[in-house]
Amino acid sequence: MALHLYAATTSQGKLRDFRAAAEAHSLLIEPLPELGEIPAPEENGLTFAENATLKAVYYSRFAPGEWVLADDSGLEVDALNGAPGVRSARFAADSGLTDSPDANDNTDVWNNLVLLQRLAGVPEARRTARYRCVLVAARDGVALHTAEGAVEGLILEAPQGTGGFGYDPLFYLPALDRTMAELDLETKHTLSHRGRAIAALLTMLGA
Ligand code: IMP
Repeated sequence: MALHLYAATTSQGKLRDFRAAAEAHSLLIEPLPELGEIPAPEENGLTFAENATLKAVYYSRFAPGEWVLADDSGLEVDALNGAPGVRSARFAADSGLTDSPDANDNTDVWNNLVLLQRLAGVPEARRTARYRCVLVAARDGVALHTAEGAVEGLILEAPQGTGGFGYDPLFYLPALDRTMAELDLETKHTLSHRGRAIAALLTMLGA
């Protein structure tokens, strides 16, 4: 029987990645029911692991007896001493750059812009970075499994590709000569930080 997990995320990009993982394994991953109605907890952890744990523990209380999966992930850029890190989703907002209330959500565009500004003049050899993902599976308010995944790359000087989300158009994989935004979902799943973390978690769950 397929293992059933609820994902505690409203990120369409993350849900797409989770679905790609589910297809590759005997796994059913669905968004946590009524997630939009549940007030989000404050992500005030200093590490990906702390944030993923607090989200998994919190949301699992809304689905008694079920496995609930939470992910915290982001980009670490060496020339920025590991920033944006746990602030990846809020990198531009931290610099005061946000959408006007009636605009479409341009958070990813702003975040990429701030990243390029911070790296202006930094030569290719020093534009090393990695995506990191920590996944926590919790049940009934208890975190039971934690898995991690990472993928190394370089930050380009201009975006390339239209797939993926977040920083994907700037995240270049030298071995593939492609950005993350130029990969099909199956390839992204096999080598991405999230795909690797999911594979590690499934091993722990015996799936
Ligand atoms: P959080 O885990 O919801 O706090 O947000 C993580 C943030 O890191 C996202 O909003 C993106 O900006 C970035 N990020 C995490 N994973 C990916 C990915 O696979 N591709 C592109 N950006 C990512």
